[in-house]
Amino acid sequence: MTAILSGTELGRQIRAKVSAEAAALSERGVHPRLAVVVATDDESSAWYVRSIAKTAARSGVRCDVVDLGAAATPAGITAELARLSADPAVHGIILQTPLPGGARLEELATAIDPAKDIDGANPLSLGRLTAGLPAHPPATAAAVLALLDHYAVPLAGRRAVVVGRSTVVGKPAAQLLLARNATVTICHRHTADLAACTREADVLVVAVGRAGLITAEHVAPHAVVVDVGTNPTTDGGLAGDADARSLTGRVAALTPVPGGVGPVTTALLLRHTIAAASR
Ligand code: NAD
Repeated sequence: MTAILSGTELGRQIRAKVSAEAAALSERGVHPRLAVVVATDDESSAWYVRSIAKTAARSGVRCDVVDLGAAATPAGITAELARLSADPAVHGIILQTPLPGGARLEELATAIDPAKDIDGANPLSLGRLTAGLPAHPPATAAAVLALLDHYAVPLAGRRAVVVGRSTVVGKPAAQLLLARNATVTICHRHTADLAACTREADVLVVAVGRAGLITAEHVAPHAVVVDVGTNPTTDGGLAGDADARSLTGRVAALTPVPGGVGPVTTALLLRHTIAAASR
């Protein structure tokens, strides 16, 4: 039997707490506010931004979408991030990807005040996280840990394998697992024998962006698999990096796509905004 670790209920619980905290802050005259800076006309990015804005509005967090257009320059984006960082009415800032002209998120996000960096995009946030100092982790990486905790998956002393080493998901997820005393291996596109590594995992986190990469040959029967991948399917849906059909009945637990990491990520963006507004 493979348990399905849905994120829907956890996302709902986090959002309910966010709503209550947003209301309490508003009563004290602090109106939690998030700014999402967009410099792309990418359709899936637009879909994601709409979903953040909708969830924020329902939870009592004001969300301003600052659309700079796909022709925005790195200097223009940096100036906008600096302006929002200096605006005391704004508590959280997200710089949406993709960015125009091959600009790197890590580079431009240095203009986000770390106190408002609620999606952990400024390299200072990852550095602080790595050093064990308070910082906002990227919401997706935090969502992986929140899901594991929600389902009481033990981490200390266990083997955790993270597939993917991006700055926004793989690396911070590995750091968060390490901070919880898991023994962590990071795999990536140059890993020589991926299946041999991933079969060692008690907890397997997959954040690659390749539908169906992880199949029954990649897992141990006791593994808990957290699937971060979101790959658009031809019928307009989403598929994970794990081949759910191949893994069902072959692992202890698996997060679904959609409905796993995604709803928790959005809820945590709002929770991080509330934390920033409370300071
Ligand atoms: P990325 O492209 O920045 O990084 C992908 C990583 O996968 C790289 O480190 C690369 O080395 C590794 N990789 C590529 N091919 C591989 C292979 N064959 N074997 C092993 N490793 C391989 O992607 P990202 O931004 O980290 O996102 C990863 C996935 O997570 C994407 O599908 C993305 O859409 C999804 N995502 C989901 C959420 C969410 O909230 N659910 C949030 C962010 C990203």
